[in-house]
Amino acid sequence: MDLDTPLFIFGLTTGVALTAAVQYFISAWTGAKTQHSKDTTPPRDSVHHPDASPITSPDALPAIRRQSWNVPSFVAAEGTLPRLEREFTVSSHRLQTMVRHLVNEMKKGLAQDGHTLKMIPSYVISRPTGFETGSFFALDLGGSNFRVCLVTLEGQGQTRVRQTKHIVSDELKTGTGEALFDFFAECIGKFLQELGLNPSEPRSLGFTFSFPIEQHAINSGTLMQWNKGFSATGVLKADVVELLNKALKKAHINIKVTALVNDTVGTLISHAYRDPQTYVGVIFGTGTNAAYVERIEEIPKWTGPIPPTKEMVINTEWGAYDEASVLPITSFDRDLDRASTNPRKQIFEKMISGMYLGEIVRHVLLDLISTGELFKGRSSQTLTTPYQFETAYMSRIERDHSLELSDTKAVLEDILGLQATTVQDRRIVKHVCELVGIRAARLSAAGVAAIVTKMNRLDACTVAVDGSVFQHYPHFANRMRDALRELLGIMAENIVLEQARDGSGEGAALIAALHGHE
Ligand code: ADP
Ligand code: MG
Repeated sequence: MDLDTPLFIFGLTTGVALTAAVQYFISAWTGAKTQHSKDTTPPRDSVHHPDASPITSPDALPAIRRQSWNVPSFVAAEGTLPRLEREFTVSSHRLQTMVRHLVNEMKKGLAQDGHTLKMIPSYVISRPTGFETGSFFALDLGGSNFRVCLVTLEGQGQTRVRQTKHIVSDELKTGTGEALFDFFAECIGKFLQELGLNPSEPRSLGFTFSFPIEQHAINSGTLMQWNKGFSATGVLKADVVELLNKALKKAHINIKVTALVNDTVGTLISHAYRDPQTYVGVIFGTGTNAAYVERIEEIPKWTGPIPPTKEMVINTEWGAYDEASVLPITSFDRDLDRASTNPRKQIFEKMISGMYLGEIVRHVLLDLISTGELFKGRSSQTLTTPYQFETAYMSRIERDHSLELSDTKAVLEDILGLQATTVQDRRIVKHVCELVGIRAARLSAAGVAAIVTKMNRLDACTVAVDGSVFQHYPHFANRMRDALRELLGIMAENIVLEQARDGSGEGAALIAALHGHE
């Protein structure tokens, strides 16, 4: 894990101290009471929160969370913020319920198709030894970015990666499948050119395609459903390997796709190349998903041959988890879902992943503006535009420990076009970001706890984690660890969350290496 813990603790302590100082100053100046008033207003819609912890009894909350409730009391007393706190708080009890329910859902998905968790067999039946060698191409379509990689496996867990990165435009995401796959082929062609390689020489590649795929073989799979803002036509129910092979042929590139890989599976496998204790791969990027190593006898729906390893990597597609009686779904989540390209789908993903966290915050801020509690009731054109409050802004705001919250001011005024925000406005915005960010990390931890529990590997397990949210969102990893401790007690120490290094590209190359002969 490359998070600098002492620095983080210093930052947190300083931040808390400064926040407390600001609160003291504001309180003294306004003469406001420093205690939060109890709020008894029910949630504004019929959201059922049987165990949501009120702010006045934070026993079930992790330490970091308890330290961050320094919202000016003269604002909190008005009502909306305490309600938000109740709605976004996920108690230990609720997390525990969620773990139990998720384990059950995993079992259902392993037994039969058609359940919420698809639990897709990946056809990846072996994990690397760390001694594999050779050079392999990989493509990685994650959601926001598309990368073309040349991975050299050097043995002893060492790899070298050369890559180019491209943004997938909204036009491509929502246009025709043909245009999308032609774009991929074009990027590969350019990459070969850059490397000075002849496109007519035969090569193979691993294709990381991070959408729900029904896999038929290691090199064949049909798209079951688009998500993360994609809706390109002619791809649903089609074999994406065939589509890519066709586009490559059309572009006169002699490359064949030999492995179709989900990014979570790639993350798991690439991390296992250097750490054999890795049994889980998780993504917190544009979307969220997890894969893990399952014993074949635990997969009743598997009717294929029993692999010699007697294990198979399962792609859980956990982003689809949607149990309303367990997840703390708020009216803001519902609004976001209704307006999304895939309503009623990927509910868990919409509560924890990079594509949506900023959008949840945006919905909350608009609500606070509508009640006049924020920005004197004035919004901006950017803030009223969907998806314009990026999750990366939350990271900036949560990292802002300055007395005046000056970076938050820059985000709100310079980027979002809000006028003359006050320190009080900015502290409320920061608090909303914390609520949404903490909830995301805690729900993510419940997902990890469920997988480790299902595998019965509470004694030792490395979880490889990839994705910009885990990598860049301040405190995300530590908040997850806190929640894991609440859920698993002392056993949580055996679960190591590790930042995966470029998992998906390397993993696809490794899987192409492991399974290239098939
Ligand atoms: P992909 O999902 O395409 O593999 P990433 O793992 O980079 O790509 O995830 C992209 C997502 O991460 C985007 O939804 C973006 O909002 C979010 N993101 C990017 N930078 C940050 C950041 N600094 N903090 C939090 N989230 C971020
Ligand atoms: Mg990715």
